[in-house]
Amino acid sequence: MKIILLGAPGSGKGTLAKQITKDFSIPQISTGDLFREIVKTESPLANKVKEIMKSGALVPDEVTIQIMKDRISKPDCEKGFILDGFPRTIKQAIELQNISDIDIVILVNLSNDVIVERLSSRRTCPNCGEIYNTTTYKKESCEKCATKLIQRDDDKPETIKNRLEVYEKNTAPLINFYSEKLFMVSSAGSPIETYAKVKTFLQDLEDKN
Ligand SMILES: [Zn+2]
Repeated sequence: MKIILLGAPGSGKGTLAKQITKDFSIPQISTGDLFREIVKTESPLANKVKEIMKSGALVPDEVTIQIMKDRISKPDCEKGFILDGFPRTIKQAIELQNISDIDIVILVNLSNDVIVERLSSRRTCPNCGEIYNTTTYKKESCEKCATKLIQRDDDKPETIKNRLEVYEKNTAPLINFYSEKLFMVSSAGSPIETYAKVKTFLQDLEDKN
């Protein structure tokens, strides 16, 4: 099963991807991870990416596509994959069509108000990276290492609003592009409820094929 996962930061997309990966035995592929991996290696493509990243420029679409093509031709992608954070643009989506047939595009939906509420109640331990939620965790320091918890800049309401605007601007055209392959799921309930809906849908889809 070849899946694209779309969803705003804070929509619960990451948790969902992990569960699909586990139950359907397909890898999760994110461009961020791919770039971090490739710069650790030596190849003409790797060197090109290193140079681009060092200059601070965005990795151009043709390079991203090449990396993606290499990745999805690996044996662990035989049964499919979940793409997370790719494609980001219509141009990338068209290029992707030339190298692979996507079965389904899952769009995780959550209202902006709820996202802001969820993300702004998040606290992070600057020492060990553990994440807490102020609605369930009332202490000010980390349970594991006793370091004082902080609110990351990314989790502050004004930053969240900016990130959501960028997400919407990028994603709206993609939703349109993939309208015939779109499965929309609300993540307003618990992560377990959200995943149950997705799992049922994917199993039905698998049975049909
Ligand atoms: Zn800690």
